[in-house]
Amino acid sequence: MAKRLQARRLDGIDHNPWVEFVKLASEADVVNLGQGFPDFPPPDFALEAFQHAVSGDFMLNQYTKAFGYPPLTKILASFFGKLLGQELDPLKNVLVTVGAYGALFTAFQALVDEGDEVIIIEPFFDCYEPMTLMAGGLPVFVSLKPSPAQDGELDSSSNWQLDPMELASKFTPRTKALVLNTPNNPLGKVFSKPELELVASLCQQHDVVCIADEVYQWLVYDQYQHISIASLPGMWERTLTVGSAGKTFSATGWKVSQRGGAEGVAPPCKPLGRRGWPGDPGGGWPGPKEPHPLPVLLVQVGWVLGPDRLLRHLRTVHQNSVFHCPTQAQAAVAQSFEREQLHFGQPSSYFVQLPQAVQRSRDHMVQSLRSVGLRPIVPQGSYFLIIDVSDFSEWDQPCWAKCGGLEAARGSAWPLSPREEDARLARSCGRAL
Ligand code: PMP
Repeated sequence: MAKRLQARRLDGIDHNPWVEFVKLASEADVVNLGQGFPDFPPPDFALEAFQHAVSGDFMLNQYTKAFGYPPLTKILASFFGKLLGQELDPLKNVLVTVGAYGALFTAFQALVDEGDEVIIIEPFFDCYEPMTLMAGGLPVFVSLKPSPAQDGELDSSSNWQLDPMELASKFTPRTKALVLNTPNNPLGKVFSKPELELVASLCQQHDVVCIADEVYQWLVYDQYQHISIASLPGMWERTLTVGSAGKTFSATGWKVSQRGGAEGVAPPCKPLGRRGWPGDPGGGWPGPKEPHPLPVLLVQVGWVLGPDRLLRHLRTVHQNSVFHCPTQAQAAVAQSFEREQLHFGQPSSYFVQLPQAVQRSRDHMVQSLRSVGLRPIVPQGSYFLIIDVSDFSEWDQPCWAKCGGLEAARGSAWPLSPREEDARLARSCGRAL
């Protein structure tokens, strides 16, 4: 009898909504509003840092330290140490990974054992479930539940909340980790301090590690504020905080690719007309920018921050998988953070300008959707916007929706709750139309 070819542990998890979705969008020649990436360039200072890295010191073409290029681990430790209220050691508390995907994968592989349970809050970013399963763990789901908007108010992601009793009931002696994503993909929910305190106290009570995916931490709107759960009392010791240079500097395509001036990468989506990075003066989305003249090698960088004892096995996974992330990309990200540290909290800071600009796009999108009778759920943060499409019976297609040249991911296409009511929701990336 022929030997079994495929590893059993990957059975049933080969489907990926985004692979399918991008294919559908390109075949149908529609604007892909389902996938989360900016339709504006990264800030000039980040692109310039990249060009500098590829055309400067030739040693940046070589391996650097496996766990992170020293100037990057240093600035990440100093920058996030202040935000988390911890003295971070660049060698012990920071691991640089290939994107936040790399950080998450490494974390699941390092911490989750056969049969361990991982609590995942629905709706959730699609990779948490397969990553749990690939590590041999069991996903345990708990849903954010919507409550109706007050009279005269729009639906908001803040109306989606955890039921404290239900959350508590999900913790068992086998619970190893809980994944907390704030601001959340796809709802755009920003967890409030009391909500974080509830999660924190349950994690502490049951000795559970919190995997805090905070890749959208700079994309928070209105009066809301991002709070890192690792900054709450007693949580640093049990939290891994995941970040992404791609989300931080609006360069989600900084995976391995060659960007070659005018003949550079194909546009990731059908252009939407208005472009320009959010920090440009004038308060809007100015005209197109010229492509940068130098070819640059764009590679994605992410990181995970945490106590040395939690990072121990993450380093083991990392050194036996990707080993190290491209040095030039790390140098560019380091320089961009150094710039941001100097401007922190000031109007010139990208982290101040970016949310203001994306909030304008969000408001425009909300208005546009309402004007055609759709019911958007106004996100407090992130790139995403969920729409209630229950009034539109033609959206009952298997996993995606096309409407007037736009494409949005339907709720059931990626891991929203299995509950029937979620099939009424569609996710759209809140890009300016
Ligand atoms: N976490 C969340 C919540 C995300 O939405 C994404 C990307 N869509 C990632 C992590 C992965 O980030 P990166 O592109 O840096 O790998």
